[in-house]
Formats: sequence, C-alpha cells, structure tokens
Amino acid sequence: MLDQTTSGPEVPTFDSSANLLSPLPLELRRHLYYTLGLRDTESEPSYLYSALANTVRDHLVPNWRDTRQRFGQSTERRVHYLSLEFLLGRSLNNAIQNLDVDEQAREALHQYGVSLEEIEEEEHDAGLGNGGLGRLAACFLDSCANLQLPVAGYGIRYEFGMFHQLIEHGRQVEAPDHWLRDGNLWEIERPESTKTIRLYGHTQRVIGDDGKAYSRWIGTNDLMAVPYDMPIPGHKNGTVNTLRLWKAEASDIFDLDEFNSGNYPEAVVEKNNADQISMVLYPNDSSENGKELRLKQQYFLVSASLQDVLEKWVDQYGEDFSDFGRLNCFQLNDTHPACAVPELMRLLMDEHHLEWDAAWQITTRCMAYTNHTLLPEALERWSVALFSRLLPRLLEIIYEINERFLTQVAKKHPGDIELRRRVSLIEEGHEPHIRMAYLSIVGSFSVNGVAALHTELLKEGLFADFYHIWPEKFNNKTNGVTQRRWLAYCNPKLRKLLCETIGSGWESDMEQIKQLAPYADDASFRQKWRAVKQANKQRLMDHVKEHTGVEFMPNAVFDVQVKRIHEYKRQLLNVLHAIHLYDRILRGDTKGMVPRCILIGGKAAPGYHVAKLIVKLINNVAAVINSDPRTEGLLRMVFFPNYRVSTMEIICPGTELSEQISTAGKEASGTGNMKFMMNGALTIGTLDGANIEIREQAGAENFFLFGLDAAEVAETKRAYDPNAIIAADPDIYRAMELLENGTFNETEPGIFDLLTKGLRNPHDQWLTIADMRSFIDAQVEAGKAYLDPEKWDRMSILNTASSGWFSSDRTIQQYADEIWGVKPLQNS
Ligand SMILES: *Cc1c(COP(=O)(O)O)cnc(C)c1O
Repeated sequence: MLDQTTSGPEVPTFDSSANLLSPLPLELRRHLYYTLGLRDTESEPSYLYSALANTVRDHLVPNWRDTRQRFGQSTERRVHYLSLEFLLGRSLNNAIQNLDVDEQAREALHQYGVSLEEIEEEEHDAGLGNGGLGRLAACFLDSCANLQLPVAGYGIRYEFGMFHQLIEHGRQVEAPDHWLRDGNLWEIERPESTKTIRLYGHTQRVIGDDGKAYSRWIGTNDLMAVPYDMPIPGHKNGTVNTLRLWKAEASDIFDLDEFNSGNYPEAVVEKNNADQISMVLYPNDSSENGKELRLKQQYFLVSASLQDVLEKWVDQYGEDFSDFGRLNCFQLNDTHPACAVPELMRLLMDEHHLEWDAAWQITTRCMAYTNHTLLPEALERWSVALFSRLLPRLLEIIYEINERFLTQVAKKHPGDIELRRRVSLIEEGHEPHIRMAYLSIVGSFSVNGVAALHTELLKEGLFADFYHIWPEKFNNKTNGVTQRRWLAYCNPKLRKLLCETIGSGWESDMEQIKQLAPYADDASFRQKWRAVKQANKQRLMDHVKEHTGVEFMPNAVFDVQVKRIHEYKRQLLNVLHAIHLYDRILRGDTKGMVPRCILIGGKAAPGYHVAKLIVKLINNVAAVINSDPRTEGLLRMVFFPNYRVSTMEIICPGTELSEQISTAGKEASGTGNMKFMMNGALTIGTLDGANIEIREQAGAENFFLFGLDAAEVAETKRAYDPNAIIAADPDIYRAMELLENGTFNETEPGIFDLLTKGLRNPHDQWLTIADMRSFIDAQVEAGKAYLDPEKWDRMSILNTASSGWFSSDRTIQQYADEIWGVKPLQNS
C-alpha cells in the first residue's frame, strides 16, 4: 500500500488556484462522455442539462472553496440565517449569469443544436417554500453573496417541496413535488458534518465533577441531521456563499436487545421513521401548522444548525465562549426557528457548562427576530403538553426564561398583574400554550418588521407591551428582491436596453437605476421601451396559450394578480371586477373600455376550504367570459396553474398592471409588488405593506391608489353594512347578481354560496365590498391611462427608474449595518 505521508516530494502537489478547466464547450462534452457515459448522438435536453449543470458547477467550485476558507479563517462577526423555507427556484441560469459565461454556454449548446432556454426548462424548481417568506430568504442569500457578506443560510432539505397544483374541473388538485427525482446537481453532501438530534425522553438533575448541579436530558430518541450544501454565487465577484440544508436520517445506533428479541424488521422500520422529519414542506402560508411533525422539523433545523456553528467555534476558539455573542448573529426568519433561543441556552449550559447568566447574555446578544405577519391565525403557539413530551429540556429552559422575565417586569411595574399575564411566554388556559413570538422577542436583541407600515402596526398593536419595555429592540427593514433574478436574468430584452442606455452598474448597485428617469421624456426611448414590453407580452401570451389554451390579445392591457390564494389578498375583489366588466359588455356599455387580459395565479393551502373555492370561482368565471362571443377582443381571463418562481420569471416581464389589492393593514410587505415594479408594470393597489413605499418612490401620479387605509379599515369595521353598499351601487349590485344567480355555476347550484355570504357578512374581516366602488373607479383611471400609450410608457419607465429602494441589496445592507454589524469579506 502506498503510504502518502512518507512519500514526501513524490506526491504530486495540487495547486488549487490553478485554473484546471478547459473552454466550456469542451467541458460540456467531457461531462457528457465521462460523467454521464453518453455519446454525442445521445443528446436529449435532459442529458444536456446534466452535462451543462455539471460544467457550470465546476466553474463555481474553486470560488466556493475559497469563500468557505475565507469565511472559516475570518475572526470577524458572522451571520447565520435560519429559515424553514428557501424558495430558490432554478439555479442553472442564475449561476451562468453570475459567472458571466452566458455566451460560452450558448456556444457549447450550439454544437447540439439546442438553445440555452430550452435546456433551462429541464431543471426542476427548488420549491422549498410557500411564497413571499421563502422567496425573501432566497433573495437575501443572493444579496449577501453580491455584497460579499459572511452570511450562511440554514434550512431543511425537504424531499418534497411545495406541491404541484393541477386544475381539474376548475378545482385545485395537489400532487407531490418530487423535485429530487432526477438528482440535484447543485448540492454536495457533507456526511462528515452529521449531527445527532434528540427528541422525547426526560430530564434529570445530576451533580457534576465540580460539585455543581446540571440538567441532563436522557432516554431520548435520536436521529441524524446530514448536511447538503448548495452554492450561492455572487454577481461576477468571485464569492460563492453556502446554503446548508439538513436531511433527517435514522440514527445508525441500534438497540441490540430490541433486534435480538425477534422483532428485527419492526425495529428497523421504527428507526426509519426518523427520516420522515425532512420528508415534506408544510404547505400553509400565513397560517399556523399545529402538527407535531412541524415542531420536530423546527427543532431539527435549529439544533443541527446551532450544533454546527458551535462545533466550528470550538474548532477555532476552543471552549472559551466569551466572544461568541460578539462574533455570531442568528437571524430568525419568523418564529419558525424560535426554538433557537432555548436550544442555544441548552447547548451552552448542558454541553459546554456555562452558567445561566453567561449563557443568557450570549444568547440575547446574538439572536435577532424578523416578524412577517399581523394575522392572528399565523402566530405560532405550541401546546405545553406537546413541548413537554417532545422537548422536555427546552420546556424547562423556557419556563425559567419566563420566570426571570416576569420578575423583571414585576420590578418595573409592581402591581400590574394584568401586564404580566399579557406578556407571559405562556398563554394560560384550559390547555396552556407557548407564545413563540414572545419567546423570540424576549430572547433577541433586535425585532424587525418588513415594511414601514408593518413595523408601526407591530409597535402600536401586536407587540405594544414589548415595545414599551424595550423600544430600542424594534426596527424596520423594508423587504426587497434581487434585481438580478427579477430583472436582469428574467428580462434579457429589458436588461439589454437598460445596459445600452445607462450601463450595467445597476446589476450590482440598484441605486443607479434612477439614471433611467430622464429617458421617460425621450420619445424614441419610449418606443424601444414599448417594443421590449410587447415582446415580453408575446412570450407570456405563448406561455398562457400553451398551459391553458386561452388566447390573449396582444393589444390588451395585461392585468395580473399572482400570489398565494388567501382571503386577505382579496382575489375575490379582482373576480368581482372581472364580473363587473363582463356585465358592462353584456349591457353594451363598452364605450372607452380598454381591451383587458386578466391573469390570476397562486396556490391555496390544501386545508383552506375558502381559498380553494376561490380558485374554483376564478376558473368558472374565466370559462364563462372566454366562451361568450360578446367578449371577443375586449376581455379574457385565465387562472394560470401551478404558480411558482420559474413561472413568475415569465409573468412579471409581460405584466402591465400589477394587482396589489389586500385589505389595508394585512399584507406585511409583499415582494411580488416589487418584482412587477422593476419590470415596468404600474401598480393598482391599497395603502398596505410596501405598496405605500412603492407609491412614495414612484410618485402618487404614477400609481393607481384605491381603497380604505389601515386606520379607515379599523373605523369601518365598527359599523360595516355591505348589503347597504350593494343595494345602493348599481354596478356592484349587478356584479353580485351575476355571481348569485348561477351564471357561473349553472350545473353546480349553490357552490359559491359560502363566498357570497362572506362578501355580504357585516363581520367580513376583509371589507371587500367596502373597497369595491373605489377599485372600479381606479380601474377606469388605469384604463384611461392605458389608452394614452405615451403617458403609460412614461409612467412605466418612471416606475422602473424609482425601484432602486426595493433591491434586496439595499435591505441586506441595512441588516448588515443596523442589526448584524458585519462587513464584506473580500476575496484575497
Ligand atoms: C415573489 C413571490 C411570492 C410573493 O408574492 P406576494 O405578491 O408578495 O405575495 C410568492 N410566490 C412566488 C413564487 C414568488 O416569486
């Protein structure tokens, strides 16, 4: 056997900095031959996808290795972004563009007579998230790599991501998303960094060698967390950051007695239940997942990630944790990873023998919490009974955190028992629950909302008591999206026009997009702008035709609402408007009417009955409108199935009117609104979430505002009479009549009664009817503006030109400066 340690200079040295790669077309061929074992004639798109992805990955790997090394050797503060969701979408095009090898990739594929676009279609979306929250995490990682910040993502490698949505007879049907079926070329398994995760069991007090009392968590059921790393490339800057996703596996430590007792197969099956934990993403957006498996997922992510960070700490600094809080920050993406607070306490005390006060000082110095919702039904609460069964040691720690916190509150506000009851981490009652948002606030040094309005509402509403206790913890970080995926890469025609006009600096510094503003007054530029939009509308039309069979009109305004289906997002308001337009056509009242194509898309949570009924209604209304010859040339409507990241990449460049019509005070921020704005769509929207900031940036004259604001919503709810509004407004009356007289459900009587009753209910939380008149009027304004193309294009250009604030680079720079306190780690 060859002993490499003694072979000295005989061992060939490997210079990791040398470029070992051949020109990309050759590399592609090499992967086709040697990695896939194929011949040139076996060049189906799926094979070419694999060969190209392998090739591009090879180009990422040297920078990835270097970035990891820089990260590992740095003695500066680091950030760990903990999220149950990362809605990444596809990786191939993003990597190609960030590496700037687009031309070489096209050349390489040219040998086989296929286009890059065709090959990109072979990649499954990594759909490890529900919607905005998960996509935000993906945009944030992209911006961290662009800004060369020492930030690592931590998540779960779900075997099944967000479900596939099929539409059958107008109804949503869910199918599993086995995105790993054909393998995942963008990950590297790191079995050597596997962690052990404990569940169940009980706690015990023991006296240690030093004579002190410690808690021990014993009798646990253990499983393994195996990491898979995904590369997050920066934009032409040599940085490749890491997203570490954990997969659950059965522990390979077996209880031999159990096997020997004759139950060998049963014992193996029992062990294998462990891998269920990372099997599937919970498909609920903005609502609670009160299931035991979900809590296991949360703890699994948190424990594996914290152990990983602590292990690296000990490797670098030994068992001295005095600087741990100063040099680490954990950003909690909503309360889903809130177990990080008690778990870090547990690890520091039980595994590394710190005292409570030292551990608490560290924990509260490095935890930061982002709130994402004001909807009460989305606030996580876990039953104490479940917690005590699953995570008994964490429950002990939470009780102690609570006791110390309430003592502190009592000192400051003696006698105010009511306050203590309100802020307690434990909600008392028949079945006591742990309030995860409160646990996150108490355990963190920073609490942020995701848009200016949202943060103000948090401070004066949901978290008012905590704001009074710790005003300094609260701050706002308005969300953003990456202009690379959501403008440069998904809209190559607009990218080209922008680069010809103002250069390419905006791709990594979105402030520069404002240089576009003067061109709004340039008629020849507007013509080019219009031509790009028209080409993108054509691409969207083709896509709609292919997936729904419906033909859009190229001269119509493309009016789009894509987002999760939820009552607060008010797809119903949009449907009512479509019915109103249909009613006008039926009555021959079409003077001045703009031809309009309405596209609605989005998934409903499988258990959310009302949302699924809304999907059915959209499909039924669309079917009636599209099959009525009187609507020809005036109105088309589709429900676009299986909305996801890769479809948004086609939809947002082709959209002209962006529907952001939630009930004011309900949408924390929204990010779809920002993608549309960047691509030159005009927004019709309420004063909700980041819409307010979009309107401020674009100017009120370049935004179609309607509806009640958050204060008026609260006021209106005190005496709301939707039936009176319907009776008094002929347009709304007739739209409701069509909805209620069976026009859209001739063969299925009564199926929409639940929806119409909701609209007419004086306690309707979403105030759809209250905003209907104002919405119709704003739509008329939008239509008038569209009939003046010079005016419209001017407004469109000014929207893109003022979208700089909505780059996630800006958001992340603010997190880095104001929460994390981290600086870029440049390449050497
Ligand atoms: C951006 C995005 C969202 C968020 O959209 P909102 O309109 O902000 O709710 C949801 N899903 C996908 C696939 C997205 O790309």
